[in-house]
Amino acid sequence: MKIFHMDLHVHTVLSPCAELDMGAPDIVGKCIEERIDIIAITDHNAVENAMAVKKAAEGLPLEVIYGVEVQSFEDVHVLCYFSEWGRAKEFQGWLWNYLPPIGNVPEKFGVQLIIDEKNGIIGEVPRFLLQGINKTADEIIAKARYYDGICVLAHVDRDAFSYVSVLGFVPEDLEIGAVEVSRHISRSEALCWKRKVGGRPLIRSSDAHRLDDLKKEYATPVLLEKPTLEEITMAFHGVNGRKILWP
Ligand SMILES: [Zn+2]
Ligand SMILES: [Zn+2]
Repeated sequence: MKIFHMDLHVHTVLSPCAELDMGAPDIVGKCIEERIDIIAITDHNAVENAMAVKKAAEGLPLEVIYGVEVQSFEDVHVLCYFSEWGRAKEFQGWLWNYLPPIGNVPEKFGVQLIIDEKNGIIGEVPRFLLQGINKTADEIIAKARYYDGICVLAHVDRDAFSYVSVLGFVPEDLEIGAVEVSRHISRSEALCWKRKVGGRPLIRSSDAHRLDDLKKEYATPVLLEKPTLEEITMAFHGVNGRKILWP
């Protein structure tokens, strides 16, 4: 068993709000420099660039998990993770059915670039990604699970776009793997949040929108045998010796 540092919330140039330095080899290079072992690519409402980052990390000591940060009808952000690319793409297919047909205005909101592992531009997503889909947070969680995904409630401590700020509290039977807090939360504040969310496993992530946001100190230490989503899921449940080592 080994301690890995994971940051399960990283945006790329596909997110209109992310900086243009969030290219695939750039993210990988910065994570290697910071000795971050595992990241999840979680663009707003889109999984498309996760594969580019995964390929850019091939042969390097960085595990990349396919993810997406879905914005619900109530404006709650839910992080969804998948082991298999096919399942991640199917989930994206489902969610794009419910993404309102509002076009992006790149000059105003930023570009939404689909890239390859060398930052070659494959295309642009025309529809605005930074909007709520016509499904509730609970429906999104249920559907991600249907596609073999696992969900984490994003930045639960934030005043906007968090499950708690919008819906009040986290129901006991909500089928999530963990709850995320923002990177600047102290250990004591995190322990407070852990109580507020019924003792559910807590993780801390960078929610990086630019390279400078990627730092080992913002990642969550976790005890695993191998850096896989299956093992992380075991750590969320605290089984077979796998565990989250924070707060
Ligand atoms: Zn968010
Ligand atoms: Zn985010």
